Amino acid sequence: MVLTWPSVPQWGPVVSRSSCSGILGVMPTAADLASLLAAARQRAVDLGLELRDLKTATAEGPDDEHDPEGATIGFERARVAGIFERACAEVSAFEEATRRVRNGTYGRCAGCGQPVPAERLEALPATDRCVACASRRLRDEAASRQIMSRCSQR
Ligand SMILES: [Zn+2]
Repeated sequence: MVLTWPSVPQWGPVVSRSSCSGILGVMPTAADLASLLAAARQRAVDLGLELRDLKTATAEGPDDEHDPEGATIGFERARVAGIFERACAEVSAFEEATRRVRNGTYGRCAGCGQPVPAERLEALPATDRCVACASRRLRDEAASRQIMSRCSQR
């Protein structure tokens, strides 16, 4: 049984670089974000349907543990569940970005309040942080994960 799934691309550039690109990049418009949100929702729905079908297949099929085919389906289900989760996160990120467009905070860093460079928004339309604040947050998250793992080892 060969199962193929639509791949979920990472945030890609929204607008073509052909027109007025240069080094400044092009900030995504509300319309860009709306179509990105619609595409992300469609992807999540498709994946949700695939996942539902896989769950049905597993429920009907022989048990995962003793049948090689069943194990494959179980593995596929876990894989698709992971992609589905990322697709859902993508939907919320675009919903959040759309909200920020409406309340006029889109393009402002949620960390330091400075404008997020257009080329960053072009590459990551749903981002709410400048590079410095985003990497600081990543470091903080990594640090708290480390601390938490030390806590739970005790
Ligand atoms: Zn910032």
